[in-house]
Amino acid sequence: MKLGDLGGEFEFIKHVTSNIGLPPGVVKGAGDDCAVLDYSDSEYLLVTTDMMVENDHFNLKWFSPGQTGWKLSESNVSDILAMGGSPLYAFISMSLLRDTTVEFMDDFYKGLLASFKRHSVTLLGGDTTHGTEYVFNLTLVGKVDKKGIRYRSGAKPGDIICVTGRLGGSTAGLKLLLQGKQGYIDAHVSPRCRTAAEAAAIAGYANAMIDVSDGLASEVTHICRQSGTGARIDRSVIPMSAETLDAAEKTGLDPYDFALYGGEDFELLFTMDPGNIPQLNKKFNDFTAVGEILSADRGIYISVDGENQPLKKGYDHFA
Ligand SMILES: [Mg+2]
Repeated sequence: MKLGDLGGEFEFIKHVTSNIGLPPGVVKGAGDDCAVLDYSDSEYLLVTTDMMVENDHFNLKWFSPGQTGWKLSESNVSDILAMGGSPLYAFISMSLLRDTTVEFMDDFYKGLLASFKRHSVTLLGGDTTHGTEYVFNLTLVGKVDKKGIRYRSGAKPGDIICVTGRLGGSTAGLKLLLQGKQGYIDAHVSPRCRTAAEAAAIAGYANAMIDVSDGLASEVTHICRQSGTGARIDRSVIPMSAETLDAAEKTGLDPYDFALYGGEDFELLFTMDPGNIPQLNKKFNDFTAVGEILSADRGIYISVDGENQPLKKGYDHFA
């Protein structure tokens, strides 16, 4: 039986973790953006880990080593932010080639440490080995105020579903690169996740939160599954940049597919009582309402030109 036959990455995680009991002090194990550990009276520790594999997550034809290091950090920090937290410490493990140069690794660390500086992350250790392709894995430890933590499971019927920034930019850049077309590729090769200050501001008003790493459709589905709700997304209001629309035109592809089924945008998706919009706007206003949370019996669907369609799931590593 192949891993893909289980139904996807989410089902695979359930398959291998469902019998693991959690000892006291562990608030949340696998299944959210981070594991959550009890730490002090007022704070939790957050732990997350994420890997980038050459030719799957990055292609050195398009990525400089520095961009690879930067993206590795930004994609991991995004998971800490998705819980409303701020990152603190990092551990990096990597598999290099036998002939990897000092210049390559200097550039990699330049990018990695630039992102660490942006988020006040300190590197505390790691492991280095060699193999036949580059593999970089980062583990991040962060913290969050107990009152400020947000899970995927907190969405309530009546909440609006919001996303920060614009979606689809990373996939738009990737498609340009794959087709050898000129255009804006920065969102793919050097994405910027949100900041801890922004995540904490949002968490103050949100009921549920997740980061957009596998496409809007996938993240909404996670929120609904874990909150026991349904949802409606309005396709026409999904925020996209002019560069993303330009890439769609040049590649002949549908920009909505980039946003819904692409990934690696590292924006935040959150649900909140619509009454909170004015207060959040005063602290943070780069967000767009793209739908609403419904009761579970209504299902998960997307409104396309006035017609309701079931929401397909997004990108899956094993599908
Ligand atoms: Mg995530």
